[in-house]
Amino acid sequence: MEGIAVIPSLLPVFSRINLSFEKGEGAYLFGSDGRRYLDFASGIAVTALGHAHPHLVAALKAAAEKPWHLSNLYEIPEQKQLADRLVAHSFADTAFFCNSGAETLECGIKMVRKYHAARGQAQKYRMISIQGAFHGRTLATIAAGGQEKYLAGFGPKVDGFDQVAFGNLNELRAAITPETAGIMIEPVQGEGGVRANSADYLRALRQVADEFGLLLLFDEVQCGMGRTGTLFAYEQADVAPDVMALAKGLGGGFPVGACLASERAASGMTAGVHGTTFGGNPLAMSVANAVLDVMLAPGFLDHVTAISEKLRHGLTRIVAANPAVYDEVRGQGLLSGLRCVVPNGEVQTRLREHGLLTVAAGDNVVRLLPPLTIGDQEVTEALAAIEAVASAWVAQA
Ligand SMILES: *Cc1c(COP(=O)(O)O)cnc(C)c1O
Repeated sequence: MEGIAVIPSLLPVFSRINLSFEKGEGAYLFGSDGRRYLDFASGIAVTALGHAHPHLVAALKAAAEKPWHLSNLYEIPEQKQLADRLVAHSFADTAFFCNSGAETLECGIKMVRKYHAARGQAQKYRMISIQGAFHGRTLATIAAGGQEKYLAGFGPKVDGFDQVAFGNLNELRAAITPETAGIMIEPVQGEGGVRANSADYLRALRQVADEFGLLLLFDEVQCGMGRTGTLFAYEQADVAPDVMALAKGLGGGFPVGACLASERAASGMTAGVHGTTFGGNPLAMSVANAVLDVMLAPGFLDHVTAISEKLRHGLTRIVAANPAVYDEVRGQGLLSGLRCVVPNGEVQTRLREHGLLTVAAGDNVVRLLPPLTIGDQEVTEALAAIEAVASAWVAQA
């Protein structure tokens, strides 16, 4: 067999950590290695209510006894209910459901193009996007993200995306041409390194969009659904987009995405122009409705803000005391990042050895994405692990 490559049965596109989990409970995961882990990864901001949340488990069990799939050929009351609730709690007038973040952005990009085409301006099809952005792994969303590591080898980059530097309004204005249709941006850049845009910048984007007749698309796949302490991150900048992509936390672990839009932005999306087989099925809709039940309950989002301040405060203290290991705390709410001086991957490994699961991000950042339900105990435990890793590093150096 020497010299013959044998591909594993799982396409090897992930470099997996040699660890699996048999049980999850709230913010904790119980590993195949017999250890308990504090989950500050949340499946990359997906299990926003932790593992095995009783209300979500009950909703999924009840839905499992009813038809799982019907197709959008028919009315799906759970879908209508979720759309009504998302509309009632956002800028949006209408919602389209699909199964992932990338798919949601595909819908959003198509919607922006169609808006102009339906007004006789099909030449307006280009989107301005931001360097370091992540919008997914489909052909269009890797072009939108513009990151070479995701584009390489996949043929000509899908046309229609122009990237500008993070936070640079002059560069963005200068990139607008008669072909520009819209601007797409993560209010808080997640995988790019947990970089929050200022409220001023987001408000300026709204003005620029209005001035040039462009649509503003917010990618809240990661920063939406309570993660920053408001149901949607845009609320904190006091600015509304025309189109918004949601996914990750929306299903609390069940795959679901939603593309929300104002009536005006969605005006080109008529019967037959877009669709999905699986999107909006009763299982996904029931679970997402259950997620909303929890997130919209009085006090839930206040708790997210309060506990995130506690975490931020502790992180700031640890960073100040360990400048040889960490050099910056970033983010908003419970979407936080620790920029490292030493390699972030190694920090992540050592945190895991201390029982804390995290996710790496660009710019040498370790992302902390706990469930929104964590309490003081979990924060104390996480801070202890983060501090212990720093102390050990300094001692060993
Ligand atoms: C994860 C993510 C996506 C892509 O979501 P998938 O479900 O993996 O397709 C898009 N945008 C942002 C901001 C994300 O964090």
